[in-house]
Amino acid sequence: MGAVESMRGSTATAVSLGMPRIPGRQDGGEDARQRSGAPQPGGSGFTPAPDRPADPRLLDRFGRTATDLRVSVIDKCNLRCTYCMPADGMVWLPQNRLLTTEEIRRLVGIAVRDLGVREVRLTGGEPLVRKDLADIVAGLRADHPDLPLSLTTNAVGLAERAAELAAAGLTRINVSLDTLRPDTFATLARRPFLDRALAGIEAAAAAGLAPLKINAVLLRGVNDDQAPELVSWALDQGHELRFIEQMPLDADHGWRRENLVGAAETRALLSRDFILSPDPRARDGAPAERFLVAAKSRPGVVLGTVGIIASVTEPFCGDCRRTRLTAEGRVMSCLFSREETDLAGPLRSGATDAEVADRWRDAMWAKPRAHGMDRPGLGDAGFVQPDRTMSAIGG
Ligand code: SAM
Ligand code: SF4
Repeated sequence: MGAVESMRGSTATAVSLGMPRIPGRQDGGEDARQRSGAPQPGGSGFTPAPDRPADPRLLDRFGRTATDLRVSVIDKCNLRCTYCMPADGMVWLPQNRLLTTEEIRRLVGIAVRDLGVREVRLTGGEPLVRKDLADIVAGLRADHPDLPLSLTTNAVGLAERAAELAAAGLTRINVSLDTLRPDTFATLARRPFLDRALAGIEAAAAAGLAPLKINAVLLRGVNDDQAPELVSWALDQGHELRFIEQMPLDADHGWRRENLVGAAETRALLSRDFILSPDPRARDGAPAERFLVAAKSRPGVVLGTVGIIASVTEPFCGDCRRTRLTAEGRVMSCLFSREETDLAGPLRSGATDAEVADRWRDAMWAKPRAHGMDRPGLGDAGFVQPDRTMSAIGG
């Protein structure tokens, strides 16, 4: 089957809570190596895609080049955001399936040196749940002194670790924060940890990781009335707020297009208090459309910017530069892809860097045009929600 394993194929089964499991892969035995395409005795067991050009970069069939790598370091999380996780959590990966620090360093090394990756973001699950996170950051920084290296986190527990992470060489932090109200936080994240998240944000700024980007998802009837207060707070604090449209990547499969608080509605919600005008800076492939923000009472004074990431209503798939590694070392070419390519199996079975790089190139060559399909259209007829949740992919 080449390097790409179909999640619809016979090797994959969906178990409870939507978490895909591939039987036998935990044992690392012969079956696992065959399924993962790992090197077999007497040959590489790997046939590169015949139509892929001989170019070292991560190209796809639609003319895009991936230069931005997201590495999920863990699938576990200390929150249970309704749009991402089920209330009871998931079937977590066993410890021995997670990429080790050394494996992450090797894969990032291949990505940067051989595949043209230019920036790396660590994510999860919740990366702060991983105790050796600062070691991962320090290792990557030692290997790549100039690499932009950032973290996406819910900031719960960041107060205790921000200084350590900054010292280890982290460049930037994105924090997900959907509300400033304790009761809404407890409803939305199903944990009463707003104070801890806010303390984490403060500590990150104090540790020099500013300017912070704050990501917020608006949910109808939950926090959609709070968009202006999030903007006011972020402007006061000097953080760059971005609203992200909710995507169908929740474990409960409760996403409905008609419930979406989309980009146009978000702009309308904000226009009650603010004047938004397009930011003249070039977007340059960035997923967020940025707006300059002024208060209605002082229209001429720009207070800062706000971004809107309209993955559903104004998709930017044509400009996508992402490649993703899941916590167990599988390449996902698209958030909505139903195909994954295992790199950990080959890595653990003695594959060379060149073999791993070729497998990664093939995975990206097979990247779908948009939203896991041949056209954008989340929630349209023909769209099939992937088994993996955002937390299990690495958002
Ligand atoms: N736990 C960390 C956090 O929350 O920042 C990192 C992982 S989380 C999966 C990464 C980002 O994905 C967060 O900004 C979160 O809001 C976003 N996210 C999760 N599920 C989403 C969904 N269904 N639609 C849109 N964004 C989602
Ligand atoms: Fe955890 Fe982040 Fe998902 Fe919330 S969005 S449940 S913090 S992984």
